[in-house]
Amino acid sequence: SEPLIRVEELTKHYYLPKTKLLEKRNAVRAVDGISFDIAEGEIFGLVGESGCGKSTTGQMIVQLVKETHGGIYYRDRQINALPANEMKALRRELQIVFQDPSSSLNPKKTIGWLLEEPLVIHGVADRAKRREIVLKTLEQVGLGADYLKRYPHELSGGQKQRVGIAAALVLKPKFIVIDEAVSALDVSVQSQILNLLKELRDKLRLTYLFISHDLNVVQYLSDRVGVMYLGKLVEIFDVSTSAVGPLHPYTKALFSAIPDVKGTRERVLLKGDVPNPIHPPDGCAFHPRCPLAVDRCSQERPGLQKVAPRHEVSCHLFEEGDFPS
Ligand code: SF4
Ligand code: MG
Repeated sequence: SEPLIRVEELTKHYYLPKTKLLEKRNAVRAVDGISFDIAEGEIFGLVGESGCGKSTTGQMIVQLVKETHGGIYYRDRQINALPANEMKALRRELQIVFQDPSSSLNPKKTIGWLLEEPLVIHGVADRAKRREIVLKTLEQVGLGADYLKRYPHELSGGQKQRVGIAAALVLKPKFIVIDEAVSALDVSVQSQILNLLKELRDKLRLTYLFISHDLNVVQYLSDRVGVMYLGKLVEIFDVSTSAVGPLHPYTKALFSAIPDVKGTRERVLLKGDVPNPIHPPDGCAFHPRCPLAVDRCSQERPGLQKVAPRHEVSCHLFEEGDFPS
């Protein structure tokens, strides 16, 4: 089936102002030419250390942040060049849930008001109809009618995040970016929210881009996982069906931090910090930290190659079709 979402060479550069120290305007390459797609009904996990460009990617897809260049396609229609009125109609279908619902929920408004507002904005004119939708949406996230009159500060972290999810659901979207939505919650509440997200995906036939720095959580929820490093996708693979497992040395290091069932996985410790995205290293941006780097790595930039079914990797150690199956 054709993908629901597709991005091509998506790029975001932030320009820093000129200073005495910086003679020319310097670009922070927050997202540096990434391409991937998400099938309808799929949960695509995006993982990587903070600052690697995950959130910017999600915000560009739902058009909260304007890309520097590249294409964003929804059902094969390029959406990042649409006139405002056509985008407004599409906005209903593309939603986002953030880490901290408190900052997006106006503390002076009741939950009922907050959930009704998007419907008013999008012209669902009939008040009774709006109320009905709000109640049904509350029910879908496991909250009852008694929440309508409550204020955000009266809710626990988990309940607030359920309201955050309801606010995204109320317009009946097809695609939701979920950005670190469980990171601030206790582990037991985390798993309740993750299970709710899974349930909603199945019941409402949703498609997610699920962003988290927590590989455990990403692995649990996602069908495929994309790993980002310094604004680039270094690997995309299906965690549950992959016969070869993670291949890229960076992905391997990330995975080695999670204990495996057999307890045979060797912990890979990376040297150094993530380099400055203003001046990323030449060649493979990971080479200064890579335990397997060879001469070629500091000169030639690798590209994503399809090494196995549902498995792409960007590393000179692998070539297209290395693992046919
Ligand atoms: Fe390491 Fe070279 Fe592969 Fe980059 S291309 S991950 S430096 S082996
Ligand atoms: Mg982020």
